[in-house]
Amino acid sequence: MFKTDSEIWLLTGAQTLYGEEALRQVDSHSQVVADGFNACGRIPCKIVYSGTVKSTEEIERKFREANDSDKCVGVILWMHTFSPAKMWIRGLKLLKKPILHLHTQFYKEIPWSEIDMDFMNLNQSAHGDREFGHIMTRLNKPRKVVVGHWDDADVQDRVAAWSRVCVAWREMNTLRIIRFGDQMNDVAVTDGDKVEAENVFGFRVEYCPVGELVDAVSKVGVADVDALVAEYEKEYDFDEECRQPGHARDQVKEAARIEIALRAVLEKWNAKAFTTSFDDLYGLNQLPGLASQRLMADGYGFGAEGDWKTAALVRTMKVAAHGLPGGSSFLEDYVYHFKGKGASLQAHMLEVCPTIASAKPRMEVHPLGIGGKADPARLVFTAAEGPGVAATIVDLGRRFRMIVNEVDCVKPEAPLPKLPVARAFWKPRPDLKTSAAAWILAGGTHHTSFSFALTREHLEDFAEIAQIEVVFIDANTNISDFRKELRYNDLYYSR
Ligand code: MN
Repeated sequence: MFKTDSEIWLLTGAQTLYGEEALRQVDSHSQVVADGFNACGRIPCKIVYSGTVKSTEEIERKFREANDSDKCVGVILWMHTFSPAKMWIRGLKLLKKPILHLHTQFYKEIPWSEIDMDFMNLNQSAHGDREFGHIMTRLNKPRKVVVGHWDDADVQDRVAAWSRVCVAWREMNTLRIIRFGDQMNDVAVTDGDKVEAENVFGFRVEYCPVGELVDAVSKVGVADVDALVAEYEKEYDFDEECRQPGHARDQVKEAARIEIALRAVLEKWNAKAFTTSFDDLYGLNQLPGLASQRLMADGYGFGAEGDWKTAALVRTMKVAAHGLPGGSSFLEDYVYHFKGKGASLQAHMLEVCPTIASAKPRMEVHPLGIGGKADPARLVFTAAEGPGVAATIVDLGRRFRMIVNEVDCVKPEAPLPKLPVARAFWKPRPDLKTSAAAWILAGGTHHTSFSFALTREHLEDFAEIAQIEVVFIDANTNISDFRKELRYNDLYYSR
């Protein structure tokens, strides 16, 4: 589910003015920086030092190679000496990979008693990178700028966050999303322009007739179902009803049958994200709730009621978060708690990812109430506590906007003995009233892609790479300024 062969290329800028010996040192310093990044253990892909460039032609050649490389997901650029920036114009205009401008220097501190003009000329990124930054701004190139000594943990963390997003961006660019059924009728915010989405994000949104899934379900063998139910029993607590022979147990078996079939169909279509619709289950015994939960836990993107944008974002965020502590899930704002600074109960009909659970999930079977199908199996749990980000991408007609709210998941104030679904309970920053007003003014969805593992930095890097608008609702948000930001953004994006 997660590729591991990604590379980030480090390219160093210099010029021939200071002689061969200076270039040899630039070269060896760059290799040390790449080795340091690889040894730090925080950066999820290999940093490949791909050379020192000194001319327009060299830069163009390197960037063409980066564009053509399947492994290269981004480039880090650093001007060790002064690198006259006109030589970057031709290459930058054709470079298609995400850019991180690393504003560092090889030595952390000034060697007071040793420093001479040779040292000054060799270590002049302080102005070399400014010359380079100018041309990037003039060409309007999206990029992340990271400043500091390359061996500092803080700098490596900034590079690591961006690297994760580069890997996730490549995944999004090649993602295939399968919809079983269409959007829920009449719902606006989960729909959008799939053609423009493919243009901006690269992912393909296709549909698979529910009949194909129904057909696959009918072909699943009894032994496979029994083996999967045995796996469930190892992994989760079971309601007594689900353990004993009878209706509930049969529904768990049916859910297992659907999971096996759904996995097979997704693999056949080479899809890493999918949507379902409770309204469109013709021939299926139950809404694939348990299957959606377990597939999300394995890294699949998911959106309910045909919400393909959320399915894409859940998958992308899961790839970005891969290997980090804390899970990510599809969620929905359900019910508010207007007490103190306010809080929001997050859940869905069934489909919440068990990677965000605070404890072992519990297998239960209950009626659903909508969709007119049999009682679906589901994993019930409460999400862990801690900070996280809730994000969405909406289609405003002329552009996509990402909205991000920083939230703090807390323990519900009391047990929820009658609530038969997985849930999270969070306090949105800065408070519920401001957060909900800002989210609504920005046109945000009721569905979100939530992550304990990612931070606003990842999502800001994502929006920069995707070149889409992003607005943050955080501890500093106030509605007057937020409203102005939305209006300024409207002007910026109507250019
Ligand atoms: Mn929903």
